[in-house]
Amino acid sequence: MRYISTRDRNHSLTSAQAILQGLAPDGGLYLMDAMPDPINPASLRNASYQSIADAILRLFLPDYPEQAIRRCVSEAYDDKFNDPAIAPLRPFDGGSLLELWHGPTSAFKDLALTILPRLLSSAYEQNHLEDTISILTATSGDTGKAALAGFADVPHTAVTVFYPEIGVSPIQKLQMQTAAGRNVSVIALQGNFDDCQRLVKAAAGDPGVRSACRHVRISSANSINIGRLIPQIVYYFSAYLDLVRSGTVQCGEPVSFIVPTGNFGDILAGYLAREIGLPVQHLVCASNANHVLTDFLETGTYSTHRSFQPTISPSMDILVSSNLERLLYLASGRDEELIRSLMGALSDSGSYTVPASMLERIRQVFRGCWADEAETMKEIHDFHEESGLLIDPHTAVAMHAFRSYRREFPEIPCVVLSTASPYKFPRAVLSAVQGKPADMDDFEAMRQLSALSGMPVPQGLAELPGLPVRFRRVIRLEEGLSAIAERMEELSHD
Ligand SMILES: *Cc1c(COP(=O)(O)O)cnc(C)c1O
Repeated sequence: MRYISTRDRNHSLTSAQAILQGLAPDGGLYLMDAMPDPINPASLRNASYQSIADAILRLFLPDYPEQAIRRCVSEAYDDKFNDPAIAPLRPFDGGSLLELWHGPTSAFKDLALTILPRLLSSAYEQNHLEDTISILTATSGDTGKAALAGFADVPHTAVTVFYPEIGVSPIQKLQMQTAAGRNVSVIALQGNFDDCQRLVKAAAGDPGVRSACRHVRISSANSINIGRLIPQIVYYFSAYLDLVRSGTVQCGEPVSFIVPTGNFGDILAGYLAREIGLPVQHLVCASNANHVLTDFLETGTYSTHRSFQPTISPSMDILVSSNLERLLYLASGRDEELIRSLMGALSDSGSYTVPASMLERIRQVFRGCWADEAETMKEIHDFHEESGLLIDPHTAVAMHAFRSYRREFPEIPCVVLSTASPYKFPRAVLSAVQGKPADMDDFEAMRQLSALSGMPVPQGLAELPGLPVRFRRVIRLEEGLSAIAERMEELSHD
């Protein structure tokens, strides 16, 4: 199996090279040139999370030595996670919640970013490189801290995170500003997430940045890197197998997954799981007030001509969902010419429309639904009333979509992906639960939520107020590329 660009199948690499590279030089994203043979879920019936990860990674990373994969898996999914199941499934009335926030930074990004640095280091050794790998990361709030934690002091790597100055939650900002590690740097950008993502995508092609890169190679920890998506396939399988083991579904019976979506990475991993044999009925794409994807699934037109809405689910405040390109590529029967023309239209005019037959094919699997701010708050409140459980605003957006999906398909078992700990957004959650504004700081809100629910505050969040703030730099958009060039220059001299 080789990895090819969605815009040029003649550009082909091994999986290790694709992970090192991040984004293809033509601006496309890497995908396997053919899907691997399907896995029968029954063959994993008694497997641990780590064994499922091992099986899936081997399938998608055929050029990695098996031993290297086993080592990456066992080092990533250990007691850094505060639940031995890694991604436990919690039943509630009518469905199941897949808790993806038991990792070191309390968001689902940890499932991929605890292992990506290890996969990169292994690729580095396999390819006998000597350059420093400089990871540029755009974040809407959660990827940044997960990447900083995952790459801190990893040999041969350096990580630079760009986050929107306004938009991320106060806890998310503090998590990044206090990041530890000699090889990390954090910069706030006066713009939104889309600006951050555009900047890091442009960097590798910028002449100023290129000439500053001596013995430095640029790569990405965003979900444009295929090394982010492959580890995310694992928890779709683990959730399904948990349902089989608990007797909720018969092995082979289809289930639907409700996925709170921003950059379309998480839900695309679900699609890849389906492609290799997981019985998935629907993937429900849940959006917040930035519902560009819901509109696309309804009309076939993807249009960024709309105003960017900052919400209480900031990690989904995105208008340009990069990974949709991978779905379009697969759903068009790998028509790279069509992809080049759609992506050209997106960058020239901010919108594109896909052929009707292609939209039809996509809609056989994907459904869209969105929640406004009031609906999100109501969902946090109602779910707590009904189940006694706290959910964060991103999970609440998915829960809203779940309720509407279930009205249409009451017979299909559903898994709702819970992507962040409620303690990451404590004031929004407390105020939703109590039905009144939470006039206090985030740490007081955390204490009150913990008293209310009996759930302990995760250690990584509880310790934040005691940590020194290391990074305060804020730059304007137009300073972005020169800031990257400057950083590459520094790394060249290290
Ligand atoms: C990143 C993130 C999402 C969106 O995931 P994508 O892969 O970007 O679609 C949803 N919820 C939370 C908490 C996140 O951090």
